[in-house]
Amino acid sequence: MTIPDHVIEEIRDRAEILEVVGEVVRLKKRGKSWLGLCPFHTEKTPSFTVSAEKQMYYCFGCQAGGNVFTFLMEHERIEFPDAVRTLGQRVGVEVPERAAAEGPDPNAAIHFANRMAAEFYHRRLVESRDGAPAREYLLGRGIGPELWETFLLGWAPESWDALIGEAGRQGAAEEGLRDAGLVGRSEKTGGLFDRFRGRVMFPIRAVGGKVVAFSGRRLDAEEPKYLNTSDTPVFAKGRMLFNLDLARAPVRRAGAVVVVEGNFDVVALAGAGFSNVVAPLGTAFTPEQARVLKRYTTTTYLAYDGDAAGQRAAFKAGDLLLAEGFGVRVLALPRGQDPASIVQSGGAKAFAEQLERSEDVIDAKLRLVREKVDLSDVPRKRRAIKRLLDSVARVPDPMTRELYAGRVASELQVPREALSLTGPAPRRGARQTAPPPPAAAGARGSTPPGIALPESQDEWYVLLHAVSEARWREQLVEELRPEYFTVPAYAEFFDRLTRLHAEGAEDVEARLAAREDSELQRVLARLEALRGRQDEGFELSDKAFRESLQRIHEDALERGVHALKAEPTGDVLEDSLERQRLRKEIAPGRFGGRRPRGDRV
Ligand SMILES: [Zn+2]
Repeated sequence: MTIPDHVIEEIRDRAEILEVVGEVVRLKKRGKSWLGLCPFHTEKTPSFTVSAEKQMYYCFGCQAGGNVFTFLMEHERIEFPDAVRTLGQRVGVEVPERAAAEGPDPNAAIHFANRMAAEFYHRRLVESRDGAPAREYLLGRGIGPELWETFLLGWAPESWDALIGEAGRQGAAEEGLRDAGLVGRSEKTGGLFDRFRGRVMFPIRAVGGKVVAFSGRRLDAEEPKYLNTSDTPVFAKGRMLFNLDLARAPVRRAGAVVVVEGNFDVVALAGAGFSNVVAPLGTAFTPEQARVLKRYTTTTYLAYDGDAAGQRAAFKAGDLLLAEGFGVRVLALPRGQDPASIVQSGGAKAFAEQLERSEDVIDAKLRLVREKVDLSDVPRKRRAIKRLLDSVARVPDPMTRELYAGRVASELQVPREALSLTGPAPRRGARQTAPPPPAAAGARGSTPPGIALPESQDEWYVLLHAVSEARWREQLVEELRPEYFTVPAYAEFFDRLTRLHAEGAEDVEARLAAREDSELQRVLARLEALRGRQDEGFELSDKAFRESLQRIHEDALERGVHALKAEPTGDVLEDSLERQRLRKEIAPGRFGGRRPRGDRV
């Protein structure tokens, strides 16, 4: 996939971001930058900024950000090389054709097999005689031909070698089919056989649109009802979500994602006009999937099946999402219903009503406790409260956590002091990800006013200093390590910065801007946009830089990742004395008393 760096740079230099963005967003000049309504989320007051000087964009509302390439990638839903090609054509720079510049892709055979299979299954659904039952079944569930196209739905014939035969005609390598998990080898005969037989096929696409796996549903009673591709070199089930490729932009626009249990729900909801919907792939929702979603939103609606198992699964997913800093609402669908059946019987309106009636996940749990638990029975009440607090304790943002605890106390009529939040500790790195409360008065004069900062302020603050001046960069690289950052994207950014610094690069900022990694570009755009707000009482200074650096050290120390000195010994007293000693070393005179937590934000 490698397009030579000089070609990418030339295209970026020639393309004008104001023109590219301007085709989609009406921009107005404001100070040094341009401002408009964000194309990635719904808003009434503009928070989308474009810097013509730096050729970057950033949205203070949804944190979309990057350069002209990432804008095209996000907006047109294309991959980096295609964004480069599209722009190259526009500005008259020729991009060498793939084959010329590129080494062999080790997964090419798998990608070829998956693409071939998706097209084969799709044709069998649309055209073949044996696809008739599948067509009838889909139409019967309100899923018409337009949706077959959108989702590239297919039909795997009831045959042991239909796909193998097609592969032979297409010249697909046997190895590719096997590595893609499309065929298996019989232990008895040693021959190959089609894994997916007699199933309606849902191709699973990666974010860039490539088919990487399949989920197939039997139409008869044969088990398993759903069969998914097992993990392959191009597919990790626990990290992917069905429909994320199509849902990304709608999720950003809506500011929320709807998570459902099944692929059918996703397709049926799309048919009813709900496009910000994804589903985990036949497994329980995983933390990795939550982290993937977090790139696009921090609000989830869980629309799980209206039965006991569905509600249990929803609460489990809810706990996990709370721990990742999401706001979580759950839908209580009528017994025996799922999102697909809701839209089939009641149309879009019926599902919209369910969304409207959804409850905050903690409120929903509270309601269940009030309905189901005899609160005059003290041991039962205790157990119920403990379960609730386990969920509350996961919330990484202290203020949100406190609000929830207060609600549990008042609803169940127990004194707030009696409730201690001793559930599982919030996951490291997930903390401070919910929008923090407004800055405490006088805490730090340099905080930009009115900007919701969803992540650790000190972390972006030192990075902003580092990309601005070489002397700060030098200090930063010397004093910190990637693991001191709690936001993964910042840790990665710092790592890149360190490497460029070690190479002795002069033009660090330009070198970073030239990378194709879109997460890196988003961080860079964010830093750039924040820098542009300096005139609003926000400043870069030695003093501010040092203070933030110190707080990062102290926090790393508290989290136990400050490994400058000895590893923890396991002896509580000894470790705490060692920490005290380190604290003095890091910040002499600062630890007379405990530092108030409030001064971070
Ligand atoms: Zn936005």
